[in-house]
Amino acid sequence: MLKQFAVKTGSRCQMIDITGQVRSVLRESGYQSGICQVYVPHTTAGITINENADPDVPRDILATLEKLVPLRGNYRHSEGNSDAHVKASLMGSSQTVFFENGTLILGTWQSLFFCEFDGPRTRSVYVQVTPVS
Ligand code: ZN
Repeated sequence: MLKQFAVKTGSRCQMIDITGQVRSVLRESGYQSGICQVYVPHTTAGITINENADPDVPRDILATLEKLVPLRGNYRHSEGNSDAHVKASLMGSSQTVFFENGTLILGTWQSLFFCEFDGPRTRSVYVQVTPVS
């Protein structure tokens, strides 16, 4: 079962918790155990799993990425958004989460984050739920 939903981002770089949307897709599927894949079809956005209990964690991740890969640098890509491409590759474009008893197997502090690096824009997220018996 493949589902798509939109994410509206509000700034150039932003991490948005999409765990709730992914849980909704899983609930809708009715599957009890299997594999849930979350995929972002963009070259300047990514997806990662990390802590959202403390909002300083995503803030620190974004601040550190900005330090490692600044907006302005010795880039050649003429579009002027090379930092966004590099940050997207660092985060990756998909995540896999197992589920059991209809529940995503995420650690207490783990959330799925959509990572925007060239916003604000309206983005797409795909969720594929595959039952495994
Ligand atoms: Zn570009």
